[in-house]
Amino acid sequence: MARYTGAVCKLCRREGQKLFLKGERCYSDKCAIARRAYAPGQHGQDRKKVSEYGLQLRAKQKAKRFYGVLESQFATYFDMATRQNGMAGENLLRILESRIDNVVYRLGWASSRAEARQLVRHGHYTLNGHKANIPSILLKAGDVLTVAEGSRTSEKMKAVVEANGSRPVPKWLEANQETLVGKVVSLPNRDDIDLDVEEHLIVELYSK
Ligand code: SF4
Repeated sequence: MARYTGAVCKLCRREGQKLFLKGERCYSDKCAIARRAYAPGQHGQDRKKVSEYGLQLRAKQKAKRFYGVLESQFATYFDMATRQNGMAGENLLRILESRIDNVVYRLGWASSRAEARQLVRHGHYTLNGHKANIPSILLKAGDVLTVAEGSRTSEKMKAVVEANGSRPVPKWLEANQETLVGKVVSLPNRDDIDLDVEEHLIVELYSK
């Protein structure tokens, strides 16, 4: 599958906020946003008036990059969001949060969503007792995610959980870092999602 292979810190600087794309470094003072909180490039520090379209585009790019989703998949999620009851923007964020790679990251079983995606692909987790190796699987309330039996004793998995298992877990999830069992208590409300984005701008962009 195609994926972005450029410098990820540039993406955060472009969006003007931490997108947590690089694992432990994001939580340290080595974070590029902590050092240079302006857009990359020669004109990165120029003050520019941003058009309405520009604001909408930036909101979409921010959400897409935060969750590490490509354009076509993002558009598919938006389409799903518009078919659900309620606000399309909030539905969209809820769908993105419910991806299994995001849930693995939120449970503290990966240092970043990119690492979570790789670990999922390599078959390190089971969902409701079954192998789950597709990062785009969407979880629902009541789903139980566990570190696969064969992966519990791997040095890699032990190191990942030790480094990330103490991160706060959002209240819509439950994590037991001893048994390596996680549960989706309920799908998140907007207040439970820490992405600083005005999702109505994304809705406006796709509604043109
Ligand atoms: Fe973004 Fe992490 Fe790089 Fe900071 S260290 S700029 S949060 S990817």
